[in-house]
Amino acid sequence: MTAQGMPQAATLPREGDPSAGGRLSIRNLTVSFDGFKAVDDLSMDIAENELRVIIGPNGAGKTTLLDMICGKTRPTSGSIIFHGMELSTMQEFEIVRRGIGRKFQTPSIYEDLTVRENLEVSIPDKHGIWASIFFRRTPQVRQRIEEIADLVMLLSHLKQKSGRLSHGQKQWLEIGMLLMQEPDLLLLDEPVAGMSPREREQTAELLKRIAQGKSLVVIEHDMEFVRSIAQLVTVMHQGKVLSQGSVDQVQKDPRVIEVYLGH
Ligand code: ADP
Ligand code: MG
Repeated sequence: MTAQGMPQAATLPREGDPSAGGRLSIRNLTVSFDGFKAVDDLSMDIAENELRVIIGPNGAGKTTLLDMICGKTRPTSGSIIFHGMELSTMQEFEIVRRGIGRKFQTPSIYEDLTVRENLEVSIPDKHGIWASIFFRRTPQVRQRIEEIADLVMLLSHLKQKSGRLSHGQKQWLEIGMLLMQEPDLLLLDEPVAGMSPREREQTAELLKRIAQGKSLVVIEHDMEFVRSIAQLVTVMHQGKVLSQGSVDQVQKDPRVIEVYLGH
């Protein structure tokens, strides 16, 4: 099913609004699926180098929000400004080129390729997958791959077939593949789902390292994990922002307890 209608182009600001502050500025964003508003008049700002966590009950619209930011789903109305550019009318590949990387809930890696090859094919390249492998093994590329592999804790696994990695390692590899594209904003949907407690801790450290140089939006349910990474938490419910603040503030918010944390 697809979103109904097109964004109301005439009402969308084209140059970004300097008063909006954040690097990513979402205004009055709505998407309607056959009349059901999965995201409903939502506004939110993400600052440069911010690590924002979004929580909320199932069906709150969290994944749909990321789908709209990365161009997978077209908003019915509203605006998404990044670096002063309107994203809501762009194609997915254009949004990737503007510096936004998106990780979905299930890892999409090439299981038959090694860790190194997966990182190689993620290098932005107009010549396609095989050109990447055979023509891009320059010293700079090798160094970049090793830096990223080290960051995502896979340096000693570069020669291993990715299909044989643990579930957690596959998630890290996919984060590494996104980092190869040098995004300014990374969107991660439930990155620690299915991970062991130790892998969760390691992922928290990884995300904090990544967030030193870019903005990160992380959707997560595990409150212990949220507490270990979060600066500011946005709580979504029924397509809207229900509450926002520090982990302690939102955990004490009676509205959040009622719809989410209380159960
Ligand atoms: P969350 O990620 O917070 O659990 P989602 O964004 O996946 O929530 O879904 C929000 C609501 O929108 C759900 O009720 C879901 O069924 C609905 N929804 C999401 N995508 C579509 C779609 N393509 N068509 C119809 N309904 C959808
Ligand atoms: Mg979801």
